[in-house]
Amino acid sequence: MTIAGKTAIVTGSNSGIGLGVAQELARAGANVVLNSFTDNDEDHALAESIAQEHGVTARYIRADMSKPDACRALVEQAGACDILVNNAGIQHVAPIDEFPAEKWDAIIAINLSSAFHTTAAALPMMREAGWGRVVNISSAHGLTASPFKSAYIAAKHGVVGLTKTTALETAEEPITANAICPGYVLTPLVEAQIPDTMKEYGMDRDQVVRDVMLKRQPSKEFATVEQIGGTAVYLCSDAAAQVTGTTISVDGGWTAL
Ligand code: NAD
Repeated sequence: MTIAGKTAIVTGSNSGIGLGVAQELARAGANVVLNSFTDNDEDHALAESIAQEHGVTARYIRADMSKPDACRALVEQAGACDILVNNAGIQHVAPIDEFPAEKWDAIIAINLSSAFHTTAAALPMMREAGWGRVVNISSAHGLTASPFKSAYIAAKHGVVGLTKTTALETAEEPITANAICPGYVLTPLVEAQIPDTMKEYGMDRDQVVRDVMLKRQPSKEFATVEQIGGTAVYLCSDAAAQVTGTTISVDGGWTAL
């Protein structure tokens, strides 16, 4: 079964890793649905440029992944979902006792609960089509912890648990569910947490990159969005048909420490 002609929904894909994954799936011939909560002209232009570059169908659908109904409506509006990539995510950095409760709720909703709702909506479509791939973007922080990221780490560990459960519930079907666990990838989400991390640790930008972010990444290099996209393409390939319920780290050796 080839990826070409399959429909892939990638949540949170007008930027960063989601956009990189959508690009690589389109390069492999998948029709892609881009998503974010913004609905700007640029979002539709991104879909148009992917369609033109790769000769596939690409659409943008607005849906706020913090809202359960909107998560399910995204899948229904797409009309088909052979490949579901749960990628939408936000971050907030603060000690637990200062962590705003509304930030906790938003991170759990967008980074974890959205994947539950989209998966619930997509599995019947995958069963109907007789093939499916769920690729959840967790994190090295789905396998390990760091201070000041309580909600993100709880959500990303939760994504790994949801992935395993999805895999067991579909184990006898031609559907797989896996999680990719990236280390640090230089995207807008990572750029945005540099100032707060500078404040928490009392460091300048270069120190935060070297001594906090890449401290635990033994390669001392950021992973790239193309590498995460390539891993998603592998998980959607026939070679990965028996790979299910697991995590794949793309983290420069972080979790080997
Ligand atoms: P990013 O900020 O570039 O992208 C986040 C995406 O999520 C954007 O497209 C944004 O529009 C979307 N999004 C945010 N809130 C949304 C909402 N309410 N509804 C719909 N879409 C929404 O960040 P990124 O670094 O590309 O992160 C993508 C995913 O990868 C996240 O789940 C993140 O936790 C994970 N991740 C990132 C890194 C990293 O180092 N960048 C490492 C591990 C895991």
